[in-house]
Amino acid sequence: MTLLHIPTLLLVSVFIFCLMGLLSLHAWLRETRERCLAYLGSMMLLASLGILLVSLRGLGVDFVPLVVGNVVLLLSAAMNWTAMRVFAGRPPSVPGMLAGAATWLALCLLPGFFESLPLRVAAYSALAAGYGGLTLLEFWRSRHSLEASYLPALTLTALNTLFYCVRIFTDTGIGLEQANAGSGEGVPFFSFMLFESMLYIVGIGYVTLAMVKERAERQLKAAAYSDPLTGIGNRRSFMLKSEKLLADCKRRKTAAALLLCDLDHFKHLNDTFGHAVGDQALIAFGRVTTQILRPVDVFGRIGGEEFACVLGDSDAASALAVAERIRTAFAGLTLLEPGFLSVSIGLVATEESGYELSRLLSVADEALYEAKGKGRNRVEVAC
Ligand code: GH3
Ligand code: MG
Ligand code: MG
Repeated sequence: MTLLHIPTLLLVSVFIFCLMGLLSLHAWLRETRERCLAYLGSMMLLASLGILLVSLRGLGVDFVPLVVGNVVLLLSAAMNWTAMRVFAGRPPSVPGMLAGAATWLALCLLPGFFESLPLRVAAYSALAAGYGGLTLLEFWRSRHSLEASYLPALTLTALNTLFYCVRIFTDTGIGLEQANAGSGEGVPFFSFMLFESMLYIVGIGYVTLAMVKERAERQLKAAAYSDPLTGIGNRRSFMLKSEKLLADCKRRKTAAALLLCDLDHFKHLNDTFGHAVGDQALIAFGRVTTQILRPVDVFGRIGGEEFACVLGDSDAASALAVAERIRTAFAGLTLLEPGFLSVSIGLVATEESGYELSRLLSVADEALYEAKGKGRNRVEVAC
């Protein structure tokens, strides 16, 4: 007597894999950028078809379950590997996808292989474990760039691979007629295998969808907080991060300073050289300033040609030195003829104006206005 009734398990897995495959393909069509969901869906549909085919034993056409059925199941394992490979950002490898199925077909041509159940079980398990190993390798190679928590998928795949490794050496196989009757020595292992693949496919489907969603959310969030032209933080990011930095400096009773930077005669620059060159100047300002600031400082593009920085742990004197470095570095760029690139900066320190961001911005704006009035290409400190 076996605990798990094999015909029921076969029927349930065929339907569950088919349903999950269709749902994954639906998710792929909704999120067309994530091709890994297409491979995941194909993996499940192939698993459903493969199980259906291998269960057609004892009908007198053993070629179908033994050759076609296992080829379809190996293609399914290859799709699982490809889904994770594509998720990790690498292109699918067609030779790799066909290698398992081709090896199986070649083995079936060998005399004795087709007739030997233990040999077939060992070979199939070794090929399935091979694809499991490749999938693990994809996760491991890309572990720092996946932008999603991959540990559940890695663990599930490792357990599934371990299962096939154990099966290579321990399962001598059973005839399916025997299995369908639910009796005989190998039955527990066979039913356990179906049970395991059901758990794996449901698990991997769920965690892959979760990884895809997590990564999409992260990318959307990053896009919502960065300026697409210069790649630095946008106004939203600047406001959020600088509020935090100012609150932190206030709590630690250390000074901070705000620099409000506005590129000079930018309209004229655009009119003279064109908008594309204007864009290059904005990108250059972002790059130069980022190089001068420390990682703890907050920097962002808060308007067309307006940028702002909050320097933590900086009094007015050290902030002035930083502002001067930014001004001279930008004016010294050789992107355009001398005189075309310059920036005016209004500087305000918390010693004078407190830690409230809106007040600091308005005081810095007055200082900036003064810098413009005094001839531009200069730093003015609010007092
Ligand atoms: P001032 O020295 O007084 O600051 O003069 P200005 O010409 O820099 O100031 P104004 O506010 O009159 O013009 C700002 C210009 O910045 C106008 C706008 O076309 C340009 N600008 C804003 N955003 C962008 C952008 O993304 N790319 C380019 N190329 N130009 C931009
Ligand atoms: Mg302006
Ligand atoms: Mg300007």
